[in-house]
Amino acid sequence: MKEDPWDNTNTAEWERQEVIGYFLLELEELIQDIVVKKPKAVGVSVHGSNRTLAKAFVKELRSRMPEITIVVGGYDCVYYEIGPYLFPDFDYMVIGEAEMTLEPLVKALAINEKPKDLTGIVSPYDSPDRKWVVPPLLEDLDSIDFPKYEWTNLMLYRTYNNNHFVPVAASRGCRWSRCRFCAECFPFRKRSPQKVTDEIEFMVSKGFYKFHFNESDVNGDPKNLYDICSEIIRKGLKVSLMGQLRIDKRNTREYFEHLARTGFVHLRFGVDGWSDNVLRLQRKGYTMKLVLENLRNCYKAGIVVTVNMVLGVPGETEDDVSEMIENLVQCKDYIAIEGINTLILAAGSEYYKHPDEYKIRFRGDKDEIYRNHPYYIPTELWYSEDPYIDQEVRIKRLDKICTKLYEQKVDIGSFAARVVENLKNNEKTIS
Ligand code: SF4
Repeated sequence: MKEDPWDNTNTAEWERQEVIGYFLLELEELIQDIVVKKPKAVGVSVHGSNRTLAKAFVKELRSRMPEITIVVGGYDCVYYEIGPYLFPDFDYMVIGEAEMTLEPLVKALAINEKPKDLTGIVSPYDSPDRKWVVPPLLEDLDSIDFPKYEWTNLMLYRTYNNNHFVPVAASRGCRWSRCRFCAECFPFRKRSPQKVTDEIEFMVSKGFYKFHFNESDVNGDPKNLYDICSEIIRKGLKVSLMGQLRIDKRNTREYFEHLARTGFVHLRFGVDGWSDNVLRLQRKGYTMKLVLENLRNCYKAGIVVTVNMVLGVPGETEDDVSEMIENLVQCKDYIAIEGINTLILAAGSEYYKHPDEYKIRFRGDKDEIYRNHPYYIPTELWYSEDPYIDQEVRIKRLDKICTKLYEQKVDIGSFAARVVENLKNNEKTIS
């Protein structure tokens, strides 16, 4: 396998038959145990990297236990329209967050019922004329406990090079939720500093000290993040932290210095648009002036700064590309580019929902294309006008940007370099 098979650019590894065969054999002991213990249901969390293996696992389990009920959830199941397309072999699929919806299902399964039309849960048993209603979300995140992983050996959760980055989520959703390319626009909710730091303290007591704030909008409530940091300092926790922040006018030098004192060593900014015009097109809600101020403040506070870029949105011009290069070169002394993504027309995004408004056109019948591709529209099936942009144009722009940045000695990072390589090889970068 690739050195880091979990890297975003290596998702294709998890579709190789050789890899699936290897891990399926590893799961044999687990499958045998399930067969012996005969549970009423088995739950599987599914996402881009384990999807193919999970399908093989479910198929194998069903062949030995035809009566088993399969319940799936996880990142593949965020949208009602997409989940069953990505992972069709289930009896129940929990859409999105499960806290408010899972209980009736579990209770029914425990008494051998096969319920249907449950709020937030899709099933082949549902009525044919069922109308989908958006399920409720848990508002009070402090009302649930954090995972203690008591069912397994925590040391198993490690990166390819034996590092441990404990994921911690201080919030869910995104307070801004307006970027036009984004498919993660969920309502923002936060946990209290006390609860977040209790979790970190627990993990520290188990011997872990590196944490990754695994959420869309770490500074969705800047004061809350500040207070989390104060609480970590007060508890005397010696930790190393990283996460992704949004550009915000409250990101002052003093703010970052507080984060640095707490243990933040690396912050990533999804700047995404790198010219004022592109920021406006993407609807990021800030200007380049603020971007440059934020990045400088963060760097001066002693934190490693990495950034992302989304390239080729409708309306982006060649002049924008030149300006983006200039802006990146301007801050080359204090940033590294971690990700450059060409625009994906992803389900759930504003561009996907209202393509006409952005002069997005399709090569073929739009309704049929949408029916056949509920997850994202393949690049060869769409383009945008004024100016004309398709994937070929995007790759040319990407090539130009990377070449110029390389010449100007801007750190484009190994991730960005691999993305460039993959795009050139026409590999899929979407999971
Ligand atoms: S790209 Fe980031 S800031 Fe923008 S809506 Fe999505 S999660 Fe929020």
